[in-house]
Amino acid sequence: MNLNLYGHNGHWLMVDCGVSFNEPLNHHDEGPTFDMVAPDPTFIASQSNRLTGLVITHAHEDHVGAVPFLWQRFRCPVYATAFTAAVLRRKLAEVNMLGKIPLYEIDPGSLTQLGPFTVKWLQITHSIPEPFALQICTQVGDVLHTADWKIDSQPISGAPFKHRLYQQLGEQDVLALVGDSTNALKPGMSVSERTCYDGLLATIKPLKGRVVVGCFASNIARLISLARVAKQTNRYMGVLGRSLLNMVGIAKQLGYWPEELELVDATHLGYLPPEEVLLVATGSQGENRAALARLARDDHRALSLEKGDHVIFSSIVIPGNEAGVLRLLKGFHAMGVNTLLSEESPLPIHASGHPCEEELKLMYHWVKPQIAIPVHGEPAHLDAHCQIAKSSGVRKTYSGRNGDLYKLAPQSGIHRKKVRVGRIAIER
Ligand SMILES: [Zn+2]
Ligand SMILES: [Zn+2]
Repeated sequence: MNLNLYGHNGHWLMVDCGVSFNEPLNHHDEGPTFDMVAPDPTFIASQSNRLTGLVITHAHEDHVGAVPFLWQRFRCPVYATAFTAAVLRRKLAEVNMLGKIPLYEIDPGSLTQLGPFTVKWLQITHSIPEPFALQICTQVGDVLHTADWKIDSQPISGAPFKHRLYQQLGEQDVLALVGDSTNALKPGMSVSERTCYDGLLATIKPLKGRVVVGCFASNIARLISLARVAKQTNRYMGVLGRSLLNMVGIAKQLGYWPEELELVDATHLGYLPPEEVLLVATGSQGENRAALARLARDDHRALSLEKGDHVIFSSIVIPGNEAGVLRLLKGFHAMGVNTLLSEESPLPIHASGHPCEEELKLMYHWVKPQIAIPVHGEPAHLDAHCQIAKSSGVRKTYSGRNGDLYKLAPQSGIHRKKVRVGRIAIER
């Protein structure tokens, strides 16, 4: 989960405000776990008069999910593009906060001026519509906050990655790059959504029986790919699970869903011959109340799976969720349903939204920042990211931890454990 603060000249700018799921309250992974946890906002709450605004880079839970629960503590204006704002409004409505917070939908082509910070929204590619990197400009220098990104030249939904944008930054003497470390330990380049589509089509085409695909609800490109696969394999596609229905609804509302790709009501799928069914379901991490877990227990009203049907995971098993996923697999196998995890698939059926080693190197060669600050990862990822930055010619790298204060100018340095941080449980 992310909550970043940038400080300059007596003002703060917050970037992202997200949650995490099924986590304990300390970072040693000890003690009871909570359904939803958020960063402890005490530090900024105690000086919220200095907070000029919150900008949100994209609509993933780990970047936007805490806004409905923490906003009361700092009460600043919130800025996001249309898709992210639509996702946030839906979250606010669920807790009766809609209309109660100043949420500004920005045009990513224009600058957002927040106190001494000028924010430029830079198009990037990731695994959700409207992902943005931010160029945060001040009188003493510019920071590139990449947020979550990858290089995808065929992202299925949205514009391809534009390396020119980042090459241009290389001519502007960027002070620091603050960036995604999720896949810093992985060599090579990430898989394109287009390659993933090819893999899904080749995987699903020869199958008999029903096909159920588990995937992350916010990956609209993946859902579009699956709808195309359904069309090509003469299946009807339906989606099961509230978060999927919400996301598809927002995608349709904002024009991200191709009109020719029709979905059927998932409750009708049970009446179709098995070989005409393609169902996309939530719960690929084994979440107990989600659609996949209910299908694995055969207690879903919409549909019962049978021997010879298939469940495909177009997702990864996020570390920590192995037991839940194993429970799903056991349930399906007991029913004679075949399963395929992306980790064991011979063809690519999942594409990560984060940059691998070669993508990080390219970004550093383009942007040439004076300082690299890896974020969004465990210590091993941050350290690996530092090594990649160094090997790409970046002179200074800082591998910090939550609560560290990074000084960028006039003299750079890091103050360890400067700010009170931690996690709080969110009660819903
Ligand atoms: Zn993220
Ligand atoms: Zn993300």
